Amino acid sequence: MSDFTGLRALVTGGASGIGWATAGLLAERGARVAVLDLDPARVDEPLLKLRADVTDDASVRAAVTEAAGALGGLDILVNNAGIGAQGTVEDNDDTEWRHVFDVNVLGMVRTARACLPHLRRAATARPGTAAIVNTCSIAATAGLPQRALYSATKGAVYSLTLAMAADHVREGIRVNCVNPGTADTPWIGRLLDAAEDPAAERAALEARQPTGRLVSAAEVAGAIAYLASPLSGATTGTALAVDGGMQGLRLRPA
Ligand code: NAD
Repeated sequence: MSDFTGLRALVTGGASGIGWATAGLLAERGARVAVLDLDPARVDEPLLKLRADVTDDASVRAAVTEAAGALGGLDILVNNAGIGAQGTVEDNDDTEWRHVFDVNVLGMVRTARACLPHLRRAATARPGTAAIVNTCSIAATAGLPQRALYSATKGAVYSLTLAMAADHVREGIRVNCVNPGTADTPWIGRLLDAAEDPAAERAALEARQPTGRLVSAAEVAGAIAYLASPLSGATTGTALAVDGGMQGLRLRPA
């Protein structure tokens, strides 16, 4: 695992689940880390807590400016904040479509736009350090049932990752994404809690995984850390699956 000593990272949605595990891992490996979240109170010191909503451009800009000021610049952006949505195209109205796109896609665009000047400076000062990692999903390409809106947002995140990688490669800024499968985070906990029999639902979900278990937030964080680190210095414009073999093995849920 790479050493992040001296590097400065901003993690959106870093107060829970995958973002929380990533912020903790980067800090443990020596990075100075700022967490941007709707509710950053849950984050432990010494991480910098920034309350911001990725749907609000002014709050994102203010948080990024504060992070760069407090950390002395920014080398790494982990664009991770996101929300779910269930249903077919008939189940979500225009308001819901706009809102989930606003969080999952435009949220990443706003944060990247605010961070890019800082990443550009880092890339010039210390070539090989600047990286963006977007949290995408296997939903981007898997054709999951009952996930039309969510999948469309993650398809957009995937395309955005490729386009940004192309736009910024000559500036020394790498852009990649991770595609988690079903990761055991508070988000999935909330979905299971809403089921009639949460334990049975969890067992059914685990049985559908090729590995027989859910992906852990720590495992997704490890992949994000790899893509954020100089260890992956020749990798840009890729999606790294962290899905227990769900896509690569071409298995279908039973
Ligand atoms: P989570 O709900 O545990 O954490 C999401 C965090 O994002 C929360 O702290 C929340 O406060 C924050 N957030 C939500 N909306 C925000 C906004 N408007 N502004 C700022 N912060 C906001 O979820 P998670 O499972 O850790 O998911 C993180 C990312 O991983 C998401 O992008 C999600 O789409 C993706 N993902 C998750 C899974 C999974 O199975 N858990 C699978 C694939 C992809």
